[in-house]
Amino acid sequence: MDELITMTAAELSAAMAAGDVSAADVTEAHLDRIAAVDDRVKAFLHVAADDARARAREVDARRKAGEPLGPLAGVPVAVKDLFTTIGMPTTCGSKILGDWHPPYESTITQRLRNAGAILIGKTNMDEFAMGSSTENSGFGPSHNPWDLAKVPGGSSGGSAAAVAAHMAPLALGTDTGGSIRQPAAVCGIVGTKPTYGGSSRYGVVAFASSLDTPGPLGRTVLDAALLHEVMSGHDPMDSTSINAPVPPVVEAARHGDVAGLRIGVVTEFAGDGYQPGVMARFTEAVELLESLGAKVTEISCPHFKYALPAYYLIAPSEASSNLARFDGMRYGLRTGSGSAEEVMAATRAAGFGAEVKRRIMLGTYALSSGYYDAYYGKAQQVRTLIIQDFDAAFGQVDVLVSPATPTTAFPIGERADDPMAMYLADLCTIPTDLAGNAAISVPCGLADEDGLPAGLQVMAPPLADDRLYRVAAAVEAAFNERWGHPLLADAKGLSAR
Ligand code: GLN
Repeated sequence: MDELITMTAAELSAAMAAGDVSAADVTEAHLDRIAAVDDRVKAFLHVAADDARARAREVDARRKAGEPLGPLAGVPVAVKDLFTTIGMPTTCGSKILGDWHPPYESTITQRLRNAGAILIGKTNMDEFAMGSSTENSGFGPSHNPWDLAKVPGGSSGGSAAAVAAHMAPLALGTDTGGSIRQPAAVCGIVGTKPTYGGSSRYGVVAFASSLDTPGPLGRTVLDAALLHEVMSGHDPMDSTSINAPVPPVVEAARHGDVAGLRIGVVTEFAGDGYQPGVMARFTEAVELLESLGAKVTEISCPHFKYALPAYYLIAPSEASSNLARFDGMRYGLRTGSGSAEEVMAATRAAGFGAEVKRRIMLGTYALSSGYYDAYYGKAQQVRTLIIQDFDAAFGQVDVLVSPATPTTAFPIGERADDPMAMYLADLCTIPTDLAGNAAISVPCGLADEDGLPAGLQVMAPPLADDRLYRVAAAVEAAFNERWGHPLLADAKGLSAR
């Protein structure tokens, strides 16, 4: 059984197709692993054990009947708890949703169910995806499997921790400012933010609608690509969904090759605030890409330094509007008595955590008449400048690279009372969200100071998501050869072997 939890999704899929192992066994092995370690990691808010077992038996029966099954059939997937799922609660990491059971299913989880994937449970997250450490969850923090005293990143920290600790080979996350790539980087796994509109937002509880992008997390580049492909594609239920074919990500992940590829190193992502061990691994990764035949140049994106302040106007503005619906009338928690207004005020006061309240106030202020042009309008203009930086860069190179995060995982509690320090965790990831293009974080080794994982970020133009996988696969193959074992995600504290 132990062996099953160390296998990749691709390996599990092949073993099930060959009849060597059943979906029921694969599911049971992962449920056992959850039972053994999740009291320490706290990645899951809900484990759908019975449902997962029933679905696994269905997959086995379909296979026995000779039905053609896709690559994710029988493969467990952990789901960030902001995808609506029938038969499971959806809390968004917030007390305000209480034990809300959504009456409808998100497009992406429905696609996974149709593909025979086993939705094994819902994972912890920063409340309404606001945060970089999972400490803003209304249900307590998750822990980094590499070092349980450290954060797993956020906001998709539960998903990243579940995958890194071998509780599921794959997980779904969402990235609004970095919430897939940042936790992937600090948990030593692969995480992708697809092109905005490439993956459906239908049934994904909204944080900042012009930024929110669902994406995959996995322990290998190929696994992330397999999930990316199944979850993506046009959805008429989402008005910003792109009606274009899914980029050939799986094909790219199978053929990592960077010979002749033009790679730009972003000048602005270095200097103060960057941990030396993270920079050392990044520099090595760039040298490695060069040795594999890539043409590396340095590229300046002068407006990237304004991305963080622009994001912290745009995201809270959109959030303040999106979160107006949690009023004690429609969903989950209702508290207080008296008029509707009094009930709304009491419910929102009791149901939202400090960071969510901070964002609602910031956003409401930025959108208020008289300030709209000075704050929200100005931030949207900065966004255009950032898009122009990317356009200019992609006129010269095929992809851009940077560290995925300025530091490795930080101690639980260290930044909890310092929002500015917390916001810096997404310094490298936010420009991509503002511009709507695609990016991946792939492990590139362990920092010398603390032995914790560092991630290499690769950024590509919109709808060129396949380039990310091509570069990441080349990096992964080269590093695996050097490390002598297939997975970096063999977390120290919780060895699966
Ligand atoms: N850490 C960023 C924030 O708090 C990004 C979060 C995200 O991508 N959901 O807004």
